[in-house]
Amino acid sequence: MKTFQRIAVLSTFIFTVTGFITSPAWSHSIETNMRYIQIAARNKQDRSRISNLGVSIEGVRSDSVWGFASESVLKRVQKSGLRILGNFDFKTGRGGHEGAYDFPMKDERFHNYAETLAALKELQSKNSDIVTLQSIGKTVEKRDIMAMHINTTPRALKDGFSNKPGAIFMGNHHAREHLSLEVPLMLAEYLLAHRADAQIKALLDSRDLWIIPMVNPDGAEWDISTGSYKMWRKNRRDNGDGTFGVDLNRNYGHGWGTGGSDKDTSSDVYMGTSPFSEPETQAIRDFVSAHLNAKVLLSFHTFSELVLYPWGGKNDPVEKIEDRNVFIKMAKTMSGWNKYTPEQASDLYIASGDTTDWAYGEHGIFAFTFELSPTSMWNGGFYPGQKIIDKVFSDNLKPCLYMIDVADDPYKVLKNSPSRFLKNYVEPSDGYQPSFETQLGSLN
Ligand SMILES: [Zn+2]
Repeated sequence: MKTFQRIAVLSTFIFTVTGFITSPAWSHSIETNMRYIQIAARNKQDRSRISNLGVSIEGVRSDSVWGFASESVLKRVQKSGLRILGNFDFKTGRGGHEGAYDFPMKDERFHNYAETLAALKELQSKNSDIVTLQSIGKTVEKRDIMAMHINTTPRALKDGFSNKPGAIFMGNHHAREHLSLEVPLMLAEYLLAHRADAQIKALLDSRDLWIIPMVNPDGAEWDISTGSYKMWRKNRRDNGDGTFGVDLNRNYGHGWGTGGSDKDTSSDVYMGTSPFSEPETQAIRDFVSAHLNAKVLLSFHTFSELVLYPWGGKNDPVEKIEDRNVFIKMAKTMSGWNKYTPEQASDLYIASGDTTDWAYGEHGIFAFTFELSPTSMWNGGFYPGQKIIDKVFSDNLKPCLYMIDVADDPYKVLKNSPSRFLKNYVEPSDGYQPSFETQLGSLN
């Protein structure tokens, strides 16, 4: 984001010269009317109630939650009688309770839309025998949503369809979650850079891989469009009432609008006018529905360090016991590598209309959401800086390889030694330590 950096430096100069700079400096400024509020909440019921009021919950504590609230949502929370413990104002930097808010000075390593397209094209041209790129649809603002197809069978690559077991990785449903783009992009880079290594070659030869790193380019571009982050989450739908944006991860059509999303167009979790009202979610729906050889799906978000699985829209566990066990086993196994917390999404709070509920509910795909690092708003939140990119990717490489590996038959994770990556697998006890770390060491 070199342009962004130049603008930022320029504005620092202007504001410094004209004496307008007070505090915080440009890199700490967030251009939003959203408040980041802490509300007392002791259990899932409290959290779901807060979510239902239209707060987008980002941090869950044992006694409270932190989340974003527009002015109207804040009023609703105040009226509800819920106890507001913290009310952080991005403009003044006041109201936080957990220490200073720290934004990156230099984030040029993050990819904006043009840089993402360039990176994808470069990878494709260097690996044109096994990689194609295609647009799977246009956004509200007519940007292409790009998908990278990796398949070692020329015919499958040409057709865009394959009989091999498929795995789908996605990022950046939410605009400000820029790290959720970097990880799937780096996964593509890693797989292609290591395509001749025996283990990676075996995976690539036997699987059909799709990587869609930037589902919401309009929102991501909007978030960085002026040189200070806008803390933007949604897409850029003009709602026709002076507000913009639909929460794409509340717009999917399985259990849509049944909790944890909002009809208020100004809300950060606005669900849209109908299921799949948005071109971005339509594109993902149509793409996934046309590639049902995919048995696993991973949608990256930030932040909180969680491995989440359905259901998100209701408190019930996944009804089919064998499926439930697969979700739990996969989540626990992956969290053994990235050290995130594995749990059913609704254990945090109800959130209906997300990608994973739809992918599993409609198509039986074992679909996960990763909430990447950091752990909280107070050590970086959505803007942790580029310094953590490499660590977050390496934390999540093994989970990604494992997802690809089990795509042929996710139920095999319930059997002994289900995966070539898990030959020495030992059932985790408390304080879970995977015993196959050394075997996988060479993959880092
Ligand atoms: Zn998100």
